[in-house]
Amino acid sequence: WVAASFTKQQFPLVRLSSDSAAPRTPHFDVIVIGGGHAGTEAATAAARCGSRTLLLTHRVDTIGQMSCNPSFGGIGKGHLMREVDALDGLCSRICDQSGVHYKVLNRRKGPAVWGLRAQIDRKLYKQNMQKEILNTPLLTVQEGAVEDLILTEPEPEHTGKCRVSGVVLVDGSTVYAESVILTTGTFLRGMIVIGLEMHPAGRLGDQPSIGLAQTLEKLGFVVGRLKTGTPPRIAKDSINFSILNKQTPDNPSVPFSFTNETVWIKPEDQLPCYLTYTNPRVDEIVLNNLHLNSHVKETTRGPRYCPSIESKVLRFPNRLHQVWLEPEGMDSDLIYPQGLSMTLPTELQEKMITCIRGLEKAKVIQPGYGVQYDYLDPRQITPSLETHLVQRLFFAGQINGTTGYEEAAAQTESCPVARLECSDMISQVQAILLPQPSVAGTAGMHHNTQGVIAGINASLRVSRKPPFVVSRTEGYIGVLIDDLTTLGTSEPYRMFTSRVEFRLSLRPDNADIRLTLRGYKDAGCVSQQRYERACWMKSSLEEGISVLKSIEFSSSKWKNLIPEVSISTSRSLPVRALDVLKYEEVDMDSLAKAVPEPLKKYTKCRELAERLKIEATYESVLFHQLQEIKGVQQDEALQLPKDIDYLTIRDVSLSHEVREKLHFSRPQTIGAASRIPGVTPAAIINLLRFVKTTQ
Ligand code: FAD
Repeated sequence: WVAASFTKQQFPLVRLSSDSAAPRTPHFDVIVIGGGHAGTEAATAAARCGSRTLLLTHRVDTIGQMSCNPSFGGIGKGHLMREVDALDGLCSRICDQSGVHYKVLNRRKGPAVWGLRAQIDRKLYKQNMQKEILNTPLLTVQEGAVEDLILTEPEPEHTGKCRVSGVVLVDGSTVYAESVILTTGTFLRGMIVIGLEMHPAGRLGDQPSIGLAQTLEKLGFVVGRLKTGTPPRIAKDSINFSILNKQTPDNPSVPFSFTNETVWIKPEDQLPCYLTYTNPRVDEIVLNNLHLNSHVKETTRGPRYCPSIESKVLRFPNRLHQVWLEPEGMDSDLIYPQGLSMTLPTELQEKMITCIRGLEKAKVIQPGYGVQYDYLDPRQITPSLETHLVQRLFFAGQINGTTGYEEAAAQTESCPVARLECSDMISQVQAILLPQPSVAGTAGMHHNTQGVIAGINASLRVSRKPPFVVSRTEGYIGVLIDDLTTLGTSEPYRMFTSRVEFRLSLRPDNADIRLTLRGYKDAGCVSQQRYERACWMKSSLEEGISVLKSIEFSSSKWKNLIPEVSISTSRSLPVRALDVLKYEEVDMDSLAKAVPEPLKKYTKCRELAERLKIEATYESVLFHQLQEIKGVQQDEALQLPKDIDYLTIRDVSLSHEVREKLHFSRPQTIGAASRIPGVTPAAIINLLRFVKTTQ
């Protein structure tokens, strides 16, 4: 596949193709750089859409490597997993084949905000992912470090400054394609930190990506610096689990994928997690050794500091912080202490850990460390994840400044200990960390999600089809991408259910109805079989709901039919079966026992019966939400012209500040413009007038 071999001198970092010696015929439709969470989803999505795709990554044996947490899903992110699965993405199916502890979070709340989550066997996940990747039709996998991009003149109808047409590898060889997706994670100018030691690396044991970072900067992309970290790994047999709180998995396990009725492992064979807490001694070690901890001291502008114990001690002093001891795999001897990410010098890491209950004799097998890396301000990409600056170049994953970690403020408990002394050093560091909430949780999903969307759109771009954009009214994917591209990531970006305006409609159970049909028709990324199943489910639900609406009895008759339900109704009006199904104590089985005909047939498929119950629960709220959704969709239908120059345009009255904000983010619709902080309602009205006069 290598087009030609050239020395680095012959190819300056950014090349325009005035060089006539360069081969012009693209060898691939899509090139994906990086084989992490985002890259694997992007490459397979592009291939599913029918593009001849090349996945270029440093090492084939690290494809599918989980760099940090061995877990997937959680609150908000479980929704993303369902949506990625609805688009036929990989991670949910692979998690169903690789988990060691499945649990649905938020069970006490309604099904709209349940959070599917699982501990994953790292080895198994990687194996299953590699098997899938290496067997995907149209997908070629190649080892190699990409050093540079090949650029050509822009297409006349587009506004970008130039167009990507291939990549240059570190050995100088080139490969051409119609679209290129960058999913380089923490590798751009990656720098690993432990204590006062720093060395260049994308993650422990992997080289950083320097040339590519320089190329992006030269091209004029706004690059920021972020930092994050990972906890030490502890020998399982050195932990005294017997004195700790045990968390058992759910029985039955709820699978992530719509295609699975169950997961690969029985609940009784799954592994438990254990909970312990930090204590004042841990705080003391952190505070007394700040001078030995350069990651914490680092004052990089706009840092995003993920869940280190140091940041939690500084931000929430005098608290006990939760530490979840999570298995790394079925036959792994390692435990991942979630909540103890740290960058103390190695010798102090063990000292701190052995202060914690249950870990008194713990052995650290691999130290925790921090990584600092370049990220690209995501306001430089469109909702299809293509960059504004370079046509056909897409960014997805951690390169866009997203994080998978969850807020863990709720995971700390106030501690009745005397306030620890606060030196100048501490207040200085606190000041740096204060805007950063204390966080912990699972990684990955934000990155997989972007991968799928970038893969689909890179492929659609090749076939000159309209982009596939998920709106905020259609999915968590839409909320994630709209927030990223309109708000940027000056604050840490994590997905919460509270970010989602229409969360009662955008539930994990109905992601297939929301996205599979569109994924099949508009993107071509969904298999025929999955599409047919989603169509069947949609029509069965519609039919079931209308049947449930049509069955009506008086409340006293219902009382006779289902004695365990006490229906409260002020009037003697007939009550619909759909309303009876809303009661907690009623499910489709009890309803079908009371009215076998015509309801029995809806209990034959478990999933259908459960989904009818959920639909009944939300029926009245959803009716009202539909009107609000229509309002947002109307705003989204008002497209802003792509080539508008906000800095110079005269026909619309906008302040200089608003012009700059619009110029940088380039919102595609009135709806997106209205969500940019600082773009005032008056500016939106003026923009609206402008759009209407130009249409
Ligand atoms: P990655 O999974 O990092 O994959 C990047 C891929 O690109 C790698 O395969 C790499 O080899 C390849 N690559 C890079 N440059 C090139 C190049 N020039 N040529 C060819 N291949 C290249 N996740 C979070 O959600 N939040 C966190 O804060 C967080 N903290 C972490 C802390 C540490 C220390 C580490 C190492 C990881 C952390 N993670 C965190 C986990 C992880 O980075 C992400 O969850 C996830 O892996 C990001 O997915 P990605 O696909 O964007 O990038």
